[in-house]
Amino acid sequence: MSHYETLGVAQDASDEEIKRAYKKLARKYHPDINPGEDAAEQFKKVSHAYEVLSDRERRANYDRFGDANGNAAPGFGGGGGFGGFDFGDIFGSFFGGGQRGPASRAQAGQDALIGVQVTLEEAVFGVTRSIDVRTAVVCETCNGSCCEPGTRPTTCDVCRGSGQIAQEVVTPLGRMQSAAPCGSCRGFGTVIKHPCVTCQGQGRVQERRSITIKVPGGIRTGNRIQLRGEGEAGVAGGPAGDLYVEIKVKPDSAFERDGDDLTTNIAVPMTTAALGAELTIDTFDGPQTVNVEAGTQSGTVRTLRGLGAKRLRNGVATEDRGDLRVVINVETPTKVKGRERELLEELARLRGEDKRSGTVRADAQAGGVFSRLRGKFGGGHA
Ligand SMILES: [Zn+2]
Ligand SMILES: [Zn+2]
Repeated sequence: MSHYETLGVAQDASDEEIKRAYKKLARKYHPDINPGEDAAEQFKKVSHAYEVLSDRERRANYDRFGDANGNAAPGFGGGGGFGGFDFGDIFGSFFGGGQRGPASRAQAGQDALIGVQVTLEEAVFGVTRSIDVRTAVVCETCNGSCCEPGTRPTTCDVCRGSGQIAQEVVTPLGRMQSAAPCGSCRGFGTVIKHPCVTCQGQGRVQERRSITIKVPGGIRTGNRIQLRGEGEAGVAGGPAGDLYVEIKVKPDSAFERDGDDLTTNIAVPMTTAALGAELTIDTFDGPQTVNVEAGTQSGTVRTLRGLGAKRLRNGVATEDRGDLRVVINVETPTKVKGRERELLEELARLRGEDKRSGTVRADAQAGGVFSRLRGKFGGGHA
């Protein structure tokens, strides 16, 4: 299901429409209004869809490339799964906040970005890669709770769990009461007396780990693969950010990329071009036959259909592929001596080309630049 479908909006929906759809669904599924695992799961999906589609850059990336991940976000903190994700930023601004009670310790983790190089052949067909990433992960000792195993946060004595304390402020209008975050518990309403030693009470630790990514065929330099929930783990069991894998395709010595098509150049001797031959060339699909017809001109292009890169659609490789274009360059011999020279001279005589040197030069001048350009470019589209 696409993020657009999750929110029930069209792909070209305006920012305002997306916001409206999210507000409606968030009200419907918010855990305070609609308790239950299904609603929580739905709320998470809706929130993630909104997170992506409300951010111009992330939405553009999503439109261009999709998610391209098969990995579901890992669960957090065990138990309820949904944990204490603080939706304050998005949610509070829509629903007016007001009485929000104690703040949650949980904070969402950051997105992470990593660069990966692939060969052109890997980019053409796609490849599965194991990559090393170093990010924060959920602390295994406390499972993200931040407490030593067997202990729990205790209610703050100072604010009695409200996270707020009444404060008297002197204003020009007189003394006023206002609420301020409790300094003793930093507004959380609870105090952790025995913080987890492994993570120093953060609920997460830095770790190097290997993850497997599927790079789809047809990928290009600059494309980013989004792996949901594989970024930095959140603080205190908050949801992890996403991991973006930015692809760089290494240049290839034999093949050049042009969109989904590939181009390669082959050189054939003048005699082969004149007499014709069947040549075998190496391609990413193994040896292929290229038919050089008798009388082939330099710059002639032979197109091998379907031997280019896979075509990506919404971040997914299809079976459809671009073409491989083989440009045939005719090589004129540079050192012609002895018997070879005699034969060429005889050939020139037979073709009546031996005495025409003056005329040929005049022709070349008359149509010089034009005919040379045609030879170079005209042939390319023939
Ligand atoms: Zn811990
Ligand atoms: Zn307190």
